[in-house]
Amino acid sequence: MTDVPVRPLPPPSAAPSPSTPQTLAEATRCLNSWIEVDLDAMRDNVAALQRAVGPGVELIAVVKANAYGLGVEGLALPLEAAGVARFAVVSMPEALALRALGVTRPIVVLGHCFPADAAAAVAAGITVACHSLAVGEALSEAAVAQGRTAQVHIHIDSGLHREGVTADEAVALAPKLRGLPGIEVHGMSTHMANADEPDDSYSLHQRAEFERVVAALPWVPYRHAANSATALRRPELRYEGVRLGLSLHGVLPENTPDPGLRPVLSLKARLARVSALAEGDGVSYGLTWRAPRPSLVALVPVGYADGWRRALGNRGEVLVQGRRCPIVGRVMMDQFVVDVTGLPEPPREGDECVLIGGQGGGRITADEVAAKAETIPWDILASLQPRTPRLFHRGGLVVPPPAPE
Ligand SMILES: *Cc1c(COP(=O)(O)O)cnc(C)c1O
Repeated sequence: MTDVPVRPLPPPSAAPSPSTPQTLAEATRCLNSWIEVDLDAMRDNVAALQRAVGPGVELIAVVKANAYGLGVEGLALPLEAAGVARFAVVSMPEALALRALGVTRPIVVLGHCFPADAAAAVAAGITVACHSLAVGEALSEAAVAQGRTAQVHIHIDSGLHREGVTADEAVALAPKLRGLPGIEVHGMSTHMANADEPDDSYSLHQRAEFERVVAALPWVPYRHAANSATALRRPELRYEGVRLGLSLHGVLPENTPDPGLRPVLSLKARLARVSALAEGDGVSYGLTWRAPRPSLVALVPVGYADGWRRALGNRGEVLVQGRRCPIVGRVMMDQFVVDVTGLPEPPREGDECVLIGGQGGGRITADEVAAKAETIPWDILASLQPRTPRLFHRGGLVVPPPAPE
């Protein structure tokens, strides 16, 4: 292997200061890999989704799992400013982190809560999906002690057989919760098992189950049953609010109409090394790819520890100079190799490479990466790791996330 001559590294960029916003090009000059989060696209997606579901339906931003890997620290307040009415997360720590970021809108914890979570939930004004009388009693006690009201939602397991209570249990539980001092039973929810399947028979079955509870508890004012696919496909399941995760980021479930969304996420890297290989030279662990001819290959400093799946070895592609280049050999923990033979210009160390996103006329979507890795786009996004720097940007300028309180 002989190294191709490299371009000298650029001088270190000036220390970023809040008074001098940096362009993306400036901010990424000395980054090996990074995630770009386009806040303009996110704001436009919120507007497009609100138009699609209609003005009377609230958007509930589902920002569990670090806002699907994009970085909740930089997305929460812009989502609030863009007009989402509520937030949903899965756990109490996620809810408290949102409050620490300065989120003031209502936050629902969809997942399991313990009675021991009650005091913190009440103090931070968190709505708990209450699955038991024990949690309701703890919330009531905390609400009375703190002189506040604890808002609860009841999640109905209408057929996913995940969290929640059955329809019959909900009908029995709701009046008991209502009778506890300091408790407001504000909402009820359910979640579809086959939201993006062309066959809607199971969704109709789940709807009928949910409607049984709706009919029995007409005094509960707020209902939510739809994720992205359901919200965009089934107007009858929009109720008062829709819980949107994937679509906020401009990625759509299968079989779902596009209301004109734009991709929010890009994953990019700078080539770490460009090498010439002789015919027959092997690449990466196991030497599963051998150069079929004298080749030029480039090292991309992103690996499976960054969420870039090992399954993409010898299968995936990335963009260099706006053109698709195949991944050759296995994806390693921190790097993989691409074949850049035959690009119009030999690439150089430091050149930008796009793993998800657009470059020149080319584009690689999260859907495509998911299909090649034999998984779903939710999994590709949620696998992004904290070690990758995030650059939240608006109008081409980097917006630093707020420091937590
Ligand atoms: C994750 C989640 C959502 C969001 O689903 P998307 O398909 O990403 O819009 C909605 N509701 C519940 C209960 C969830 O767990």
